[in-house]
Amino acid sequence: MEQNLFVYNTLTRKKEAFEPLNAPHVGMYVCGPTVYSDAHMGNARTYISFDLIFRYLTHIGYKVRYVRNITDAGHLEGDADEGEDKISKKAKLAQLEPMEIVQKYTVGFRDVMRILNTLPPSIEPTATGHIIEQIELVKVILAKGYAYEVNGSVYFDVEKYNHNNDYGTLSGRNLDDMLNNTRTLGGQDEKRGKLDFALWIKAKPEHLMKWPSPWGIGFPGWHLECSAMSNKYLGEQFDIHGGGIDLVPTHHTNEIAQNEASCGKNPAKYWVHTNMLTVNGQKMSKSLGNSFLPDELFTGNNHILTKAYSPMTVRFFMLQTHYSSTLDFSNDAMEASEKGFKRLMNAFALVDGLKVSAQSDVDVSTIEKGCYTAMNDDFNSPVLIAELFELSKIINSVHDGKTSIDDKNYQMIKNIIQHFVVDVLGLVNEQAANDELPNVMDFVINLRTEAKTNKDYATSDKIRIGLQQIGFQLKDSKDGTTWSKI
Ligand SMILES: [Zn+2]
Repeated sequence: MEQNLFVYNTLTRKKEAFEPLNAPHVGMYVCGPTVYSDAHMGNARTYISFDLIFRYLTHIGYKVRYVRNITDAGHLEGDADEGEDKISKKAKLAQLEPMEIVQKYTVGFRDVMRILNTLPPSIEPTATGHIIEQIELVKVILAKGYAYEVNGSVYFDVEKYNHNNDYGTLSGRNLDDMLNNTRTLGGQDEKRGKLDFALWIKAKPEHLMKWPSPWGIGFPGWHLECSAMSNKYLGEQFDIHGGGIDLVPTHHTNEIAQNEASCGKNPAKYWVHTNMLTVNGQKMSKSLGNSFLPDELFTGNNHILTKAYSPMTVRFFMLQTHYSSTLDFSNDAMEASEKGFKRLMNAFALVDGLKVSAQSDVDVSTIEKGCYTAMNDDFNSPVLIAELFELSKIINSVHDGKTSIDDKNYQMIKNIIQHFVVDVLGLVNEQAANDELPNVMDFVINLRTEAKTNKDYATSDKIRIGLQQIGFQLKDSKDGTTWSKI
């Protein structure tokens, strides 16, 4: 915590010293996925970026409460009160219960996050689990006079709000510009102003996900859940609010308006946004035919990809670009990352066998300092990785007998790897992990054989079923037991 951390704040458009409201506690809210389809590459990039931030804040001693919601209702197709609820629409097409869709894609999203070695958030609240809180928030905003009810729906009155507040504070745009550049959207016949947005939407009879409210049967507007849930778990004001940069003009702008209208406070001190992912210089989109899913990247099963890339290569590739810059995907860039990552991991694998001398030709503390300087400069992971490449050169040189290091520097090398490679960047040496797997499996199979020999079938079944649940199948034959990955 003695670190001199600076964070770029979208709200003030500058890098600011990071001073939490209630140190050593840090509250961080990140807008989570809408679980109506597979997690996409943009999700992967956004949440790897916030995982880096979460990990670094934790590393320097903060006690972080990281809240990332799951949007399982209320997010309409057009993002702005138009079209159908994304989850309801998918449920109707697939003839499933909306909650079956939610379950399927929530599990899939968490799987991708785990494979990419992102840490789970402290709390992962759902929109459907917080309908009561959302209704209460609408009541407060209505009571404060910043919303109005029309025919069972409740809308936020943007122009009235803008009299006393600055609606464009986050996007840096003024209201007239916004009014002139807004197309007519859903619910317009009921809205007083072009920029007004729904807090509560009256449900049509065929709408699947709906709840009773003081205004009739309906469902919450998308922006409402994040105000309600961040308030519930982090308080009226907390430290960091994050999400993809595409959320700035509407979703986050409306969130701030809801919070200011209800309690007079901007919810977050620092607004942090991750940039977009492009493919060969173009926006990634299904219509351009250049989109692919994380799973397809891991298997190579997409025409855009020349081969498969391991999850750690993907993570490393993403961390080689600063979170606030556009990240361009190409097969060449991925291959370069794959080579670089292997080079780095191969050097780090030599550390345990390095010869320690009485004298040191190098002073590793400058690299450790460089690692902190990089991360303190708005979580600059590419500069951190450049420092780690410098470290790998020293390790290789000591290994080749060209450089000598003393014990102090040797311990420092070990610390840098543990702190920055494992704890902060969250990178795992997949090769080493795979090399050890057969030994671990032999050990577990022997335990099970021993249990069977002792007629302890409860334990032997527990081992077999447990392995199956994490993706390993055992096969018994007269020659013994073999294993395979499912
Ligand atoms: Zn949100």
